[in-house]
Amino acid sequence: NPQILLARRPQGAPVPEDFRLVESPMPEPGEGEVLVRHRFLSLDPYQRGRMDDAKSYAAPVALGGVMECQAVGQVAASRDSRFREGDWVLGGFGWQGFSVRPGKALIPIDPAEAPPSTALGVLGMPGLTAWVGLEDIGQPKAGETLVVSAASGAVGQVAGQLGKLRGARVVGIAGGAAKGAFVRDTLGFDAAIDHRGDLDAQLDAACPAGIDVYWENVGGEVQAAVFPRLNDFGRMVMCGMIAQYNTAAGAAATGAMPGPNLGPVVRKRLRIQGFIVSDTGWRRYGAFRAEMLGHLREGRLHWKEDVAQGLAAAPQAFIGMLAGRNFGKQVVAVE
Ligand code: NDP
Repeated sequence: NPQILLARRPQGAPVPEDFRLVESPMPEPGEGEVLVRHRFLSLDPYQRGRMDDAKSYAAPVALGGVMECQAVGQVAASRDSRFREGDWVLGGFGWQGFSVRPGKALIPIDPAEAPPSTALGVLGMPGLTAWVGLEDIGQPKAGETLVVSAASGAVGQVAGQLGKLRGARVVGIAGGAAKGAFVRDTLGFDAAIDHRGDLDAQLDAACPAGIDVYWENVGGEVQAAVFPRLNDFGRMVMCGMIAQYNTAAGAAATGAMPGPNLGPVVRKRLRIQGFIVSDTGWRRYGAFRAEMLGHLREGRLHWKEDVAQGLAAAPQAFIGMLAGRNFGKQVVAVE
């Protein structure tokens, strides 16, 4: 069973030497358990936090442990009567080729409904994140301006499209012309901004009536440029700040990251709220899924995946995602 282990804790940006590919014995399912052959692994920014031995809302990966992730796979052998060989399932399987799990820990997936890898993206945790954050915090109304950072990514592409479906004018911030063209032309956003260019000038041009809702995926300079343009009663959905994940520990201790002056929060009656999708998200998964499947069937929802080939490609794909080299939801096709 091929596995990718956390060989050492990254200092700053992860490098390939922080990971080790090993071959381990194939696990065998006991009574009530299922052997799953992984097909697609999900690479997500939160996994960077799990590599640090730091306090967070979840425990770190142990040194020498298998890197964690959600994945979809097919049942290879079952000792749980609810599952048969070939069934598609979702679970927290990790960066490896196979795993054994209790049947009750598996979520069945219907491949007739949508391609199985979408259970890791548009119909999975990132899509649910976008839905929950908009429902609870962003609450864009018809005619309001919603700005989404990391707009072509897993969460951003759904947040922006749901914003459009709720009647907002949506502006995406993404790195480079190709990502900008995708959010505008394929996802149907009203405008796209390249964060490598002059953010102030582009925001002024794209948001003439100011910004009512900011979907924060990035932090840093992007946040500093958006913040002063928030309108009265504006909302900031604090989903993530990927620009500082490789420096988070140091930045938190020293305040080294640039940030806006929070003075206008009072005068403008702004609402700035963080959330973690797992707080209430999975309990509301049914409502999310019903809405999303409706949009999918009607052809109103698009998605893009970036598929790295082979388990061995996972570390490099993860490193690339933190540097913006992914174009769409990053998954790994396990061969
Ligand atoms: P993405 O698919 O959006 O991939 C990450 C993207 O971030 C890159 O493609 C890049 O896009 C952008 N990026 C990286 N570094 C920078 C930088 N320095 N400046 C600007 N943009 C940068 O990832 P996800 O959709 O999976 O995650 C997006 C955010 O949502 C993350 O912050 C993540 O932690 C957060 N999240 C939060 C959850 C919660 O429960 N609160 C749950 C899931 C995700 P580009 O090329 O456009 O710059």
